[in-house]
Amino acid sequence: MPKANPRHPNFPIPGGPELRAKGWRQEALLRLLENVLSVGEDPDNLIVYAALGKAARNWPAHRAIVKTLTEMDEDQTLIIQSGKPVGLLQTHAKAPLVIMANCNIVGQWAKAEVFYELQRKGLICWGGLTAGAWQYIGSQGVIQGTYEIFMRIAERRFGGDLFGRFVLTAGLGGMGGAQPLAGRMAGAAILCVDIDAERAKKRREIGYLQEIAPDLDAALAMIDAAVKEKRALSVGLVGNAAEIYPEIARRGIVPDVVTDQTSAHDLVYGYVPKGMSLDQVKSLRDDGQGQLMAASRASIVEHVKAMLDLQKKGSEVFDNGNLIRTQAREGGVANAFDIPIFTEAYLRPLFARAIGPFRWMALSGEESDIARIDDLLLEMFPDNKIITNWIKLARQHIPFEGLPARIAWLGHGERTALARRVNELVASGELKGPIAFSRDHLDAGAMAHPNIMTERMKDGSDAIADWPLLDAMLLCSSMADLVVVHSGGGGYAGYMTSCGVTVVADGTAEADERLDHALTNDTALGVIRYADAGYDESFEEIAAKGIGHVKV
Ligand code: NAD
Repeated sequence: MPKANPRHPNFPIPGGPELRAKGWRQEALLRLLENVLSVGEDPDNLIVYAALGKAARNWPAHRAIVKTLTEMDEDQTLIIQSGKPVGLLQTHAKAPLVIMANCNIVGQWAKAEVFYELQRKGLICWGGLTAGAWQYIGSQGVIQGTYEIFMRIAERRFGGDLFGRFVLTAGLGGMGGAQPLAGRMAGAAILCVDIDAERAKKRREIGYLQEIAPDLDAALAMIDAAVKEKRALSVGLVGNAAEIYPEIARRGIVPDVVTDQTSAHDLVYGYVPKGMSLDQVKSLRDDGQGQLMAASRASIVEHVKAMLDLQKKGSEVFDNGNLIRTQAREGGVANAFDIPIFTEAYLRPLFARAIGPFRWMALSGEESDIARIDDLLLEMFPDNKIITNWIKLARQHIPFEGLPARIAWLGHGERTALARRVNELVASGELKGPIAFSRDHLDAGAMAHPNIMTERMKDGSDAIADWPLLDAMLLCSSMADLVVVHSGGGGYAGYMTSCGVTVVADGTAEADERLDHALTNDTALGVIRYADAGYDESFEEIAAKGIGHVKV
């Protein structure tokens, strides 16, 4: 039975043993589509997160996807082009059930303005990374990544944790909403600025944010008290980051860590310029795009100048993956890239081993299935400090949204071993239903994003998008259930290409084969990608795990 969804009553949370589709594989993908809307930011408009990231092109396309998933056989493949189903073709039972290409625009045309025009004509939609691929699991999707960044900073600069440290950030949206909880898990007193009071309230309601301060003075007093008492605390503040950051700098306050996760990548549908209300911004989105882009960029310039100022005064400042530096540089801030990107600054050694944001969703809707897999992780990887630490923290702090899910950064071989063991637990009935395995697109072999994921690669291969395309072809050859190639939409147009994958553990021998091939080959390509760029960690991984790297 689906469960009531208090946040979005028209979008119940799927679950239960009854199938509407002809098999669990199809049912699983249907539930994942329902799930991304149940936890999305604006499901009435099919928007899941990241300003414009959509689950389907429009409602007729959505209805056609649901109907097809419900009626299709296991030996057919549904083809989706930018959120619209366009074909159901005879393949075979080992082929993917769904393949997607979302928002891929030919190079010279891949610009925000062209995207907006194509979107207006109803020809395209952007799938974010995990929205259009039906893999989004709410703010939990990025929380371990954010936590690991904070912990790397803590280890390098603050003796191992962030207790007694002030973190300043902005953006409490679909993904940015993970920041207050990740910061608190690392021990910080974290201040999160968002222009939209509703977003702040939502994060507080679902347990990701503790307090909302009435104004900046009150917010700083709360942070100051928590810092002095070395007490973890998350505080939201409704305001514009382009005003609040410079004001904090003007007062001579130097936070220990500064970042930002507003939707700065999109100057029309994401970032809100200072001095404008949300309603004013909305009214300009269709007819005043030029004006809005100029105003957003001017505000981002001030926002980033304040971040640079705080960096000079000693704050650890980083770009949290939203193109804010790129937008500022376009606006004339020549030194915007003095701010490092989080991937290169903190996480690349993990990516070089293909350790990244693996995740799974309990299709039964039962939290006990996730709890059992948490136990399994601790049993299987007792010496993996990242995992044992993370699972203990996640159990304690992370509330479930939508289908119960977990994210855990696992690497080559580990993902496959876990998923195959879970498949056995599904077969034996120890779990109440099948489990869908997936990952973020921000993964070793899965993404080319020269200002975020692949910035300053050792060999200069930042902009080469062959890797995600190879990954998608490899995953189709490796029997994954859903394979997708996404490129950037809105402000991300022309900036990225990524590949996503989902494989369903339904307890069958066929699922075991699919999990084994798809998950193993996905991370193998990730290691090979970084070896090709010259990272030592990747060569160690290839030697230790016998990965089939061809050296030229
Ligand atoms: P979202 O659109 O759901 O939320 C953005 C939030 O920013 C909104 O709550 C909005 O009110 C707020 N905002 C906009 N302008 C503001 C301003 N001037 N001052 C204060 N608040 C403002 O987006 P999201 O899903 O939370 O993603 C945020 C950004 O992070 C996007 O650019 C996204 O692409 C990026 N992202 C990065 C990663 C990563 O791995 N680092 C992962 C996911 C998303």
